[in-house]
Amino acid sequence: MTENHPLNHDEMLAVLDWYRAAGVDIAVGEEPVDRFAQRPPARPAATPPPTAMPGAAPPQRAVEPPAIGGDPGEARSLAASAKSLDELQALLENYDGCGLKLRATQLVFADGNPAADIMLIGEAPGAEEDRQGKPFVGKSGQLLDRMLAAIGLDRSKVYIANTVPWRPPGNRTPTPEEMALCLPFLHRQVELVAPKLVMTLGGPAMQTIFETTSGIIKMRGKWSGVTIGSHQVEAIPTLHPAYLLRNAPAKEQAWADMLSLKLKIEALGLAH
Ligand code: URA
Repeated sequence: MTENHPLNHDEMLAVLDWYRAAGVDIAVGEEPVDRFAQRPPARPAATPPPTAMPGAAPPQRAVEPPAIGGDPGEARSLAASAKSLDELQALLENYDGCGLKLRATQLVFADGNPAADIMLIGEAPGAEEDRQGKPFVGKSGQLLDRMLAAIGLDRSKVYIANTVPWRPPGNRTPTPEEMALCLPFLHRQVELVAPKLVMTLGGPAMQTIFETTSGIIKMRGKWSGVTIGSHQVEAIPTLHPAYLLRNAPAKEQAWADMLSLKLKIEALGLAH
């Protein structure tokens, strides 16, 4: 802070608090950028443009739009080349195709036991996950741990990942384009872990894994066979712990889903 700064220390903290309360939690640049003022580059003209009249103003150059994403085909072949989870993680660390990476602190790849029979798939890392580089370590993760403990599970008995491994700015839902770029990596992750059971957490993870546009309230609690990448597995969607933190009465439904998972584990005689 300089002597000439119009705000003192406490006032600056109050401004930051105000930004945080309004959902602004990352600094992207010093100046706002008007994306609407930017135009895609002009297509090459089929016929050469007429020669400019002497003294006429030079033609306006279109502003190049920022690159927003890679190619899902490239993501697929890259992900398919990984022979182990370590290789897959290293590939993702170096992958620049998904714009989410630009604003995230770090990759949030997975937590838990890669040899587990049960895999949990959430939506996207939040602020705490972005800081620590592990999925479900914030408030919703603490609730998830309690939900697991209620049926005798912990992180040594499950493997946890997300549909996208970088935090979307401001915790927004990842866009379909972002999901499409990250999905081949999640598919490969599931193939390499090869779980016997999958539980998805929340609507976006359910829609991605079950390839449906149905809502989570309708779908939750129902087992179905799904194919994730090339891996066939029984899966059940449940409510997201973050939703349960905001909506305590819904815990009853999530509890029913956890009991259903427990019964399935016992029926299949899985290690837990
Ligand atoms: N919510 C998610 O879906 N995933 C996380 O890792 C944390 C919160």
